Amino acid sequence: MDVDIRTDDGDRMEFVLEDANPAFANALRRTMIAKVPTMAVEEVDIINNTSGLFDEMLAHRIGMVPLRVDPDEYTLPSECDCDDGCSDCQVELVLKKEGEGSVEARHMKPTDKSLEMPNPDTILAELLEDQEIDLEARAVLGIGQDHARHQAANASYRYYPVVRHNGDELDNNVVAARLAPDKVKEADGPVEADGDVVYAMDEAIDGLEEGDTVEIVEHDDKFLFSVESVSGLKAREIVTRAIDIIEDDLDAFEDAVDDAL
Ligand SMILES: [Zn+2]
Repeated sequence: MDVDIRTDDGDRMEFVLEDANPAFANALRRTMIAKVPTMAVEEVDIINNTSGLFDEMLAHRIGMVPLRVDPDEYTLPSECDCDDGCSDCQVELVLKKEGEGSVEARHMKPTDKSLEMPNPDTILAELLEDQEIDLEARAVLGIGQDHARHQAANASYRYYPVVRHNGDELDNNVVAARLAPDKVKEADGPVEADGDVVYAMDEAIDGLEEGDTVEIVEHDDKFLFSVESVSGLKAREIVTRAIDIIEDDLDAFEDAVDDAL
């Protein structure tokens, strides 16, 4: 299996996965979305809230704020030895703000100073002169499978297209496939280029002329992935963590098979 990164701007990443199969591609997609642990606020104790927002709405907004910690430093609450939450499995955040102005994510002060907020300017509430918010929140690691607030990423893939011009594969397959008109995309085999095909695709294919053949073949062992982080994690981290998780799952499966035989 091979991975070729096409673009990576931190939160978004596009890569090509080669020599894989649809089952693995789907497992990777699902793992990135649902099984990579992320940190998010799970419980909010409101001490005082005289803002215009209901407590539940305020707690919901706080729950959706992406938080970033080094996941290796924390344990999932279900796997922690404590009963009631401890510094291995949770971070406490205190929010106390009064008087006119916006209450933003960065106003929450965490007990773990290494906790980062990728979007510190997220507005949680607006306060008027005599209003106050005073609360304590507890953030824990969790996975998207259990709650949407822990979803790490939006991830999708499609079969990687190979485009051939007069039988020769192009270097810029993805761009050429995107420009191709439906009659080329939907054809089962090479298409003789007419004026429409040349007009649509000559930007991507050097020397394309009417009467040439153009063909798109989709490979079911090569996938174009797109990953967009919706958590505090970088897209690259989400990919590598997902692969670790799949490896661990396979190891556990192997152990189980060994025990059974
Ligand atoms: Zn604990």
